Amino acid sequence: MITENKVVTIDYSVTDETNQIIDSSEGREPLKYLHGAGNIIPGLEQALAGKQAGDAFEVTVAPEQAYGQYNPAHVQKVPADAFQGVDNVEVGMSFTAQGENGNFQVRVTAVEGDQVTVDANHPLAGKTLTFRGTVQEVRDATAEEAEHGHVH
Ligand code: ZN
Repeated sequence: MITENKVVTIDYSVTDETNQIIDSSEGREPLKYLHGAGNIIPGLEQALAGKQAGDAFEVTVAPEQAYGQYNPAHVQKVPADAFQGVDNVEVGMSFTAQGENGNFQVRVTAVEGDQVTVDANHPLAGKTLTFRGTVQEVRDATAEEAEHGHVH
């Protein structure tokens, strides 16, 4: 049964409010995570607690329990020449920016002449997400995994 300090393997798909598939483990390795360590979003972790290998799950998670609310204050316009060493700044590019509290990722969401709009929100911020899948395997974490807070 899924409790703290279990290593859990799931296959899953994620859809947004419009039923569009955003991500899926199909055709890839299934997802492995350490339960109770905050490796996955809180809403999904809570929904999986108590399940066992072979159980199916379906849970709809509000932004607060997923990737947070979308914050318009995290969108900024910067001059194109702020991107040193990049010849062509294009929509969809990601950059690491330096902030007061360390580095963070921004995505380019618009380019208008010399003005580049960057967005530091998580790409899934503000979205209500539905996860569907099956628990494949549940095992005890090793002492080292439990200490490190992730799966080896
Ligand atoms: Zn480790």
